[in-house]
Amino acid sequence: MTSFRTPGPLGPQPSTVLPSDTGSTNARTLFAAGTVGAPASAGTTASTKRKSGTYWVTWANSNAKRSTDVADLSDPFKTNVKAFIAALKAAGAKVKVNTTTRSKKRAYLFHWSWKISLGKCSASAAKEMPGVDIEWDHGDAEKSKAGAQEMVSGFGLAVPPKSKVAPSLNSNHIRGNAIDMTITWTGKIKIKKKDGTEVEVAHMKDANANTSLHTVGESYSVKKNTKDAPHWSTTGR
Ligand SMILES: [Zn+2]
Repeated sequence: MTSFRTPGPLGPQPSTVLPSDTGSTNARTLFAAGTVGAPASAGTTASTKRKSGTYWVTWANSNAKRSTDVADLSDPFKTNVKAFIAALKAAGAKVKVNTTTRSKKRAYLFHWSWKISLGKCSASAAKEMPGVDIEWDHGDAEKSKAGAQEMVSGFGLAVPPKSKVAPSLNSNHIRGNAIDMTITWTGKIKIKKKDGTEVEVAHMKDANANTSLHTVGESYSVKKNTKDAPHWSTTGR
């Protein structure tokens, strides 16, 4: 996945180098010491890459944040979501907002960790992103998958059967045009559509299958993505 690789011999690393830190510092040290070549796993000489894993979940929570605040959404979606949630609550439903806006870097980490962990692509197929010095490829397919899986678990990403699509690199969350929320109630409730008419909706465990609820959301221009359980947006994507 790197655009520049220095050819070099495979072999044991110097004992001072941690397995998770075989980046440029190591390469420079070897060159300075007159050693021929650099480790085959070395990334670009400009950055020290960190392998995929739990580290990146912690990193993202400081450097690539999400918001759970409806106020951070973009209008008119923000106003529409507020009205929809108000109608749900008035009908007796509980609404738990998980994500409104998401940084582009976070979307990047979501996308590739989801794909690699599920074996939808190889670790070496992951693209790079400026400002995110992650090494997806551990040099071993199973280890690469395990590192990505740590991130999927840490981020709490929805996986099949709940979500059958990879989190998008160009998610509507990035522009404040999507919301992830869990809506729960027991039995049947009557929810008001935007025009004031009431629709009786039975709770369903599978949020993707609850077309009556989707219809109510649509009246507020809050559209359900039926492949992604908590996801509603301006476009349904
Ligand atoms: Zn979403």
